[in-house]
Parts: sequence; structure tokens; C-alpha cells
Amino acid sequence: MAISRRKFLGWLTATGLSSAFGKTALAGTTKHFEGHPDSLGVLYDNTKCIGCRTCEAACNRVNDLPPPDRPFDDLSVLDKKRRTDAKKYMIINKYDHIRNPKGPLHARIGCNHCLEPACASSCFVRAYTKTKEGAVTYDSSVCVGCRYCMIACPFNIPTFEYDSAFTPRIRKCTMCYDTRLVKGELPGCVEECPTESFTFGRREDLFKIAHERIRRYPRRYLDHIYGENEMGGTSWLYLSGVAFKKIGMREDLGVTPAPALTASALASVPMVVGTWPLLLMGIYAVSKRKEKIATEEKEQALADTIAQAKAEADLKISEAWQKAEKEKEKAVETAVKKALEEAAETESGESS
Ligand code: SF4
Ligand code: SF4
Ligand code: SF4
Repeated sequence: MAISRRKFLGWLTATGLSSAFGKTALAGTTKHFEGHPDSLGVLYDNTKCIGCRTCEAACNRVNDLPPPDRPFDDLSVLDKKRRTDAKKYMIINKYDHIRNPKGPLHARIGCNHCLEPACASSCFVRAYTKTKEGAVTYDSSVCVGCRYCMIACPFNIPTFEYDSAFTPRIRKCTMCYDTRLVKGELPGCVEECPTESFTFGRREDLFKIAHERIRRYPRRYLDHIYGENEMGGTSWLYLSGVAFKKIGMREDLGVTPAPALTASALASVPMVVGTWPLLLMGIYAVSKRKEKIATEEKEQALADTIAQAKAEADLKISEAWQKAEKEKEKAVETAVKKALEEAAETESGESS
């Protein structure tokens, strides 16, 4: 790494960026953003990487992520091409067939912390923030889980906690902003890489370092710093000995910042930009109305059933009452008749 912790802290104080930590910086916007002159970044040099996965283990630990299915010292994991997921904010892939001075070539995949992040510009609740320091952070407390950022990111980085039943969140590398940078500590992966494949520092200084390496070792490096211009520039930069498209990195993205592209793309889908929140509220209102109607219908059906049962009961009581009255009348008639007959018999006995 180019900057030790002590140098990093001193540099923060000197540039005044330390006071910027912890404050809300530039939120997602479609306005063109040139990048903060003193913003930070990381340069990953794949010609130095030996694929030891120490960076993956460090990322897992500093972010308190769940343990992996297979341990980090199991390098057979590299035999398959992988992508980031909710439990892995960065991964290293191996390219066996591409030789490097130190063996097979490796490549890092993770958030590139774009200068103008598509994830941020696509998020209508502004869950993402492009900080002045360079990191693109995410606030799960305002996220509504629409996952539009996952579609918008040209690097296919944000992932979703599908396994979490209650409050699933978007997960991605944060450049260790909250966990380490604000405390004056280097990102976990940068600090622990044994080959110094990562260089942390001012983005402007990283270009000087990268250009100097390319100048001194023209046969080792391509004359291309990935992230200098891709999608309008990124805070995470890459040096490579082979074309980036051969190691799973897109070279077809152009230099236009993603928000400019998504703005026009979104404009052709006006629902997303303008009416998406309204639509969500509309769906909510319709579903609530349906619930209300269903509840009213249920209450009405119950009232009808009770009324019908009451009517049937009243009818039965009335019929039983009438029957009892008739039986009572008949019993009285029988009793009277019997009494009259007895009286007549008595009278005839007395007269004879
Ligand atoms: S720790 Fe360094 S050398 Fe090891 S895989 Fe990560 S970047 Fe490569
Ligand atoms: S790489 Fe993707 S997730 Fe990272 S800042 Fe850029 S658009 Fe956002
Ligand atoms: S900067 Fe932090 S969150 Fe990002 S890959 Fe490195 S350790 Fe993980």
C-alpha cells in the first residue's frame, strides 16, 4: 500500500478531509459530477496478485460477514469464476490460461465506487451517497427494497439478501467507509494484502503511480488504467498485464457517466423516474381499498347470515307456538267434553 495508517491520518488532517468524514456528502444525482479533487481511491495491480484470498478474508472479517461455505485458505474455490453476493463484497477470480510473472493471472471484482454512480442516480429514496472521500455508501434504513440499483449498476455489483426473511438489504463494498475510513484506518483488504496489490491514496496520486509503473515496465503493463474514464471514471482503479475484457471486465461501457445514460434510458421508461413512487403508492392504495372492500363484504355477509338465522329461528318459534296453542285448545276441548260427559252420566244416574 502507498499510504501507511500514520501517513493516512496525517494526510487527512493536512487536506481537511477528516472534518468531512461523517457528514452527508454528495447524494445521488443526475447532475454531472467531476469528482472531488482530493477524493480517495484504491489502485489494484493484478500483476502483483497471487490469488491468496487474504483480501477476501479481511473483507469478511472487517464487515462482520457470515463465515464462508469453504475456508479462505481453500484455493480450489478459485477454480470456478465467481461473483459478489450478499456474503461476499469482493472476490478474486483466477485465469489459469493467462500467465503472469507470479503464476496465473488474477482479477478482483467488487464495487468500483463510480464518480457518478448509476446505483445512486437510480435510487428514488436516495439510499446511496457518493461521499466526498470517494466511497459510495448505502443506507439500509431508507431502502425500500425495489432493487432498481441492481439493474442500473453497469458492473453488476449490488446484491440482495434474499435469505433474510424480515429486512433484506442491498449489500456491496463500501470502501470500508463507516467501519474503517472514518476512524483513520485503511480498508481491510488493502491493509492485509501481503503483496501490496492494492494501493490506497488520493485518486490523483494513484494515476501518477500507475503511469509511472506503465512507463517503467511497458512490457508488463497495458497502457490502460481501468476506471480512469470508464463510465465517467471510478474511484477504484485497475492495472493489468492483459486486456481487461479477457479477465471478465467490461470494455464496452464507454466514457459517459452512468447517470447520463440512465437518465435517458429512464426517460424512455417514465414510470421509473416520475411515476414509480406514485405507482407504488397507487398499488398500495388499491391493495388497501381491496382489503377494505373485502372486510366490508365479510362484515355484510356475516350480518346477512345472522339476520337469516334469526328469521329462520323466529319462524320456527312462531310455528312451535302456534302448534302448542292448537294442542292446548284441543286438550281443553277434550277436557271440557269429558267433563260434560261425566256430568251427563251423573245426572242420568240420579234421575233413575
Ligand atoms: S490478498 Fe493481495 S495477493 Fe492475495 S488475493 Fe488478495 S489482492 Fe491478491
Ligand atoms: S460499481 Fe455499481 S454499485 Fe458500485 S458505485 Fe458504481 S454503479 Fe454503484
Ligand atoms: S474496501 Fe472494505 S468493503 Fe470494500 S472490498 Fe475492501 S475490505 Fe471489503
